[in-house]
Amino acid sequence: MALTIDRDEIIGTLKREIQEITDMQEFQNLKSKYLGKKGLIKSLMNSLKDIDDVELKKEYGKSVNELKEELETLFDEKLSELKEKEREEKEKKNWVDITIPGARRKIGKENLITKTRKEIEEIFIGMGFSVAEGPEIENSWYNFDALNTPEWHPAREMQDTFYLSLDKEKLLRTHTSPVQVRTMLKSKPPLAIISPGRVYRKDELDATHSPVFHQVEGLYVDRNVSVSHLKMYLEVFAQKFFGNKVSVLLRPSYFPFTEPSFEVDISCIFCGGKGCNVCKNTGWIEILGAGLVHPNVFQSVNYDPKVWQGFAFGMGIERVAMLKYNIPDLRELYKNDIRFIENS
Ligand SMILES: [Zn+2]
Repeated sequence: MALTIDRDEIIGTLKREIQEITDMQEFQNLKSKYLGKKGLIKSLMNSLKDIDDVELKKEYGKSVNELKEELETLFDEKLSELKEKEREEKEKKNWVDITIPGARRKIGKENLITKTRKEIEEIFIGMGFSVAEGPEIENSWYNFDALNTPEWHPAREMQDTFYLSLDKEKLLRTHTSPVQVRTMLKSKPPLAIISPGRVYRKDELDATHSPVFHQVEGLYVDRNVSVSHLKMYLEVFAQKFFGNKVSVLLRPSYFPFTEPSFEVDISCIFCGGKGCNVCKNTGWIEILGAGLVHPNVFQSVNYDPKVWQGFAFGMGIERVAMLKYNIPDLRELYKNDIRFIENS
């Protein structure tokens, strides 16, 4: 018995059916109707056993296989079509309005100490100062002796020093003043420098103290320099840094490396001088120490104190940052908490 397959009829029917399919369930059902275990192809194959003639059997088998391949191609095409449709629908569901501003990725921000240091630098650079740097590990000569603080000097006890050697020769600098000495030793007057940097003292970390903190040292050397020059430069700095209304007050003080020496106050930036908690009702807040360079300091760097005068000042960067940015606790400055840094 000879069997014939109406290929065109089968393909035509399938194409119509396949067109109506809209989802994967319908697709699977239709596919098994044609290609499944009880499907059309299977039943056509089963008919093979009814053919006796070897040649016909062969021919029939071949055409069933060809039909099978054609069907598979049609189903494959439909499958990719369905998958594409599924993907598009998913995309539609997840559609995002790209005109809405996205959540900003957090980017790094400068620590407030760095920011403040740069602000101070910029102000003094604008007044003709240049920035000088020096080592944090110092010899005691630069940190003390050259700054009119010899070994017997009581002021040496005022600063709790981290010594790095038993003979107390090597130490972590207690202030940035050694940079003054180093600069003067290698350059001729007149000069104007600031030297920002880390300094070290044996202090417990609390709301106002840290064993490591930052200073900016200033040194100005020229002929006929007087206290009025010092006051003028500090006033310009204070007004640029804290605001135009700030005034500056010099109170007599003592440092071994300056004579005369002053504690420098600014009018309270919180109450405008009327008196508040921060200024302890005095109307003034201390921001730095300063004075005219002591003749002995000039002598240790071979500057003639009869020809040259100068002023020097040293301020804590943390101190002025806390005032300017109203930070009650020093430790906030070291935490690097991005929420804190962003809001300051
Ligand atoms: Zn006040």
